Amino acid sequence: MDKKGLIVTIDGPSGAGKSTLCRKLAELLGYVALDTGAMYRAVALAAARRGFDGEDCSVLEKLCAAIQIDFSRGEGKEQVLLDGEDVSEAIRTPEISLLSSRVSRCRGVRRALVRRQQEIGAAGGVVLEGRDTGTMVFPDADIKFFLDAGAVERGMRRYRELKGKGIEVDPQQTIADMESRDRADQEREDSPLTVAADAVVIDSTALSIEEVLGRMLEIIRRHSAFVSTCEKSLWKD
Ligand code: C5P
Repeated sequence: MDKKGLIVTIDGPSGAGKSTLCRKLAELLGYVALDTGAMYRAVALAAARRGFDGEDCSVLEKLCAAIQIDFSRGEGKEQVLLDGEDVSEAIRTPEISLLSSRVSRCRGVRRALVRRQQEIGAAGGVVLEGRDTGTMVFPDADIKFFLDAGAVERGMRRYRELKGKGIEVDPQQTIADMESRDRADQEREDSPLTVAADAVVIDSTALSIEEVLGRMLEIIRRHSAFVSTCEKSLWKD
């Protein structure tokens, strides 16, 4: 299949700036942005609404097969749809954050969501962000980024984000919740959060979104120039 563009992945812990950068990068490149964390959150919300605590993996696997998660562009922004309902806000609460972390440990859930992510991204022209997009979803992605930042800075970013949405949280609690989710992501058996060997690591602690975006675009530009030089020399031979 002819690819519509590159497959770019951005992995890293919570609050490193992945979502914003994924969206901005996709916008600039004219690509699709795929927030894989939103899919785990949608499964968690569906589980919470049915009273599941996220511990029984076989129940979650069945749930995953019974629900439909979609993305759509409505009212000028990206929407996450759960069985057709816009749940973009409902999946961002601290409770759903913690439940999504539990749900993401389930192998059956991961298998189902990864398959769907691969379907969406296979044609290329996509920027994916999450924890395993460069290691498990697209291990052969054209460009892989690993975005990191200091724990306190990440926690404060998440705190400001929630506050901005009118969700009242305690900053210390937000940092503690985030650290516990990160630990769980790094220590889980299936697809733990790791840096792919061929990923470009960017520490965003002291960088603005624009500065990180500039670095990413420069790396993509250099990659594209390199590929096009290789292609030209192949045609000559
Ligand atoms: O990125 P976000 O914080 O929205 O992700 C919610 C949760 O989903 C994470 O804490 C993580 O446990 C899980 N997740 C994952 N693999 C991904 C994306 C998210 O396990 N690719």
